[in-house]
Amino acid sequence: MTKSNPFEIAQKQLDDCAKILNLDPGVHEFLRHPRREFHVSIPVRMDDGSIKIFQGYRVQYNDALGPCKGGIRYHPDETIDTVRALAAWMTWKTSLLGLPLGGGKGGVICNPKELSTGEQERLCRGYVDMVWQNIGPERDVPAPDVYTTPQMMAWMMDEYSKLTGSNNFGCITGKPLCVGGSCGRSDATARGGMYALREAARELGIDLSRATIAIQGYGNAGSYAHSLAKELFGSKVVAVSDSKGGAFNPAGIEPAEASSVKAETCTVASIPDAKRISNEELLELNVDILIVAALENVITKENAGNIKAKIILELANGPTTPEADEILFNNKVHVIPDFLANAGGVTVSYFEMVQNIMRYCWSFEEVYQRLDERMTMAYQGVLAASRQYNINMRQAAYTVAVARVVDAMKTRGWV
Ligand code: GLU
Repeated sequence: MTKSNPFEIAQKQLDDCAKILNLDPGVHEFLRHPRREFHVSIPVRMDDGSIKIFQGYRVQYNDALGPCKGGIRYHPDETIDTVRALAAWMTWKTSLLGLPLGGGKGGVICNPKELSTGEQERLCRGYVDMVWQNIGPERDVPAPDVYTTPQMMAWMMDEYSKLTGSNNFGCITGKPLCVGGSCGRSDATARGGMYALREAARELGIDLSRATIAIQGYGNAGSYAHSLAKELFGSKVVAVSDSKGGAFNPAGIEPAEASSVKAETCTVASIPDAKRISNEELLELNVDILIVAALENVITKENAGNIKAKIILELANGPTTPEADEILFNNKVHVIPDFLANAGGVTVSYFEMVQNIMRYCWSFEEVYQRLDERMTMAYQGVLAASRQYNINMRQAAYTVAVARVVDAMKTRGWV
């Protein structure tokens, strides 16, 4: 796999967009870098009595449109450049969806799978102890991301509330329902992706009830995408994978079976009656729709030409490199780019903030309907821009999102 720096990729994507929009060079330069970032060392008392220091980050990329918004990722391979890239993508994501929010992201270098529940809790509280003066409902509102959970958000909210002396539910989203979470937040990323996929399939004349799907990645986004593709459209998911490998069965794989095998064996690769395949093989399967729901840089110039899917739904952030984008565009593969495809998560996070601040409790139906409206509008806006300028869907999403941020910066008198 090509080792690319995600932040360089995010900057390169912005550079392309700057050309299309004919951006002022100063404005362009401003947008190439985060406005603010925090690097923190978090001391955590481990269960054996020792103290371990974890390195954490919070990047506030741009807040022209409102308080920064974006998840916190716990990952052993986390780097500041990954967090910067993810924070930039959050900025374009919130803008594209028309949310009154900017973009930010956090990260801690750690492997949560190796931490006990107590150690996880102390790390979450320790992270908030280090950044609480710089976050909050009017400044920067974190949320879950890779390997962070609703329970972790609850600990973080509680720590922030203790430090500020008030029940500050709106300081963080993705919380469990009993402490200010929103109906529909847990499957929001996948559900939002399904609404975008529905629009794309309609556009391309693909009947989703007869379509075949391969899903790379079986975390929150990938596993919900599996069950929702079946529930909403009746599509057939023929392959699934996670970091340990994949399984392929042309007759279809049931979501309940994949989840129970994963729960028992820690991987979907061991699904019985399915052929074991690698992640690389999964990407190149002869399917109608490929859903990438793992990490960055999985579709590269090496494998892009071999992709047979007609639609790629990017539920992961940054799965496709710029060289791969070009190949896919030339091969007429319809890519629903990450910060459109996976925007359902932050959109329902925004609903959660609104409910917390106003003390509303919306029903599942209200959340789904509002999410559908926003995703459909965003998808159609991107499609229209892609047709207008004859550019790929990612470039189109960039032009819509960046133009809005620039407009806000100009109107505020920043540039
Ligand atoms: N981590 C998610 C994302 O990448 C959700 C962010 C949020 O809810 O603020 O979009």
